[in-house]
Amino acid sequence: MAQGVRQAVRAGAEEGQLIQIGDVVPSLIAIDYDGTFTADPGLWRDFIASAVARGHRVVCVTMRHPHEAIEMPCEIFYTGRRAKLAAATEAFGKIDIWIEDSPHWLFHDG
Ligand SMILES: [Mg+2]
Repeated sequence: MAQGVRQAVRAGAEEGQLIQIGDVVPSLIAIDYDGTFTADPGLWRDFIASAVARGHRVVCVTMRHPHEAIEMPCEIFYTGRRAKLAAATEAFGKIDIWIEDSPHWLFHDG
């Protein structure tokens, strides 16, 4: 493969389409709250603002219940202790990028 190009493998680019390194592929980004956002809220606030400005969609996916409400500068999806991957995929379709301090919660109910 030529230097500077790679296969696009995510939504937003056609299968097999070559894109230049540095191109933006609009992505659905899921970010966790407890232990991720809370580890450095300023960092993640800046990240979310930058991601949205660059054309991405950012959603918080948390295993909390809605009555355990949190605040983040993006849409918040509460799985109610369901495994995140299945619950979020049902709600949003394929998540392109996960930002998660405890990735086992993608696959296991709480
Ligand atoms: Mg966490």
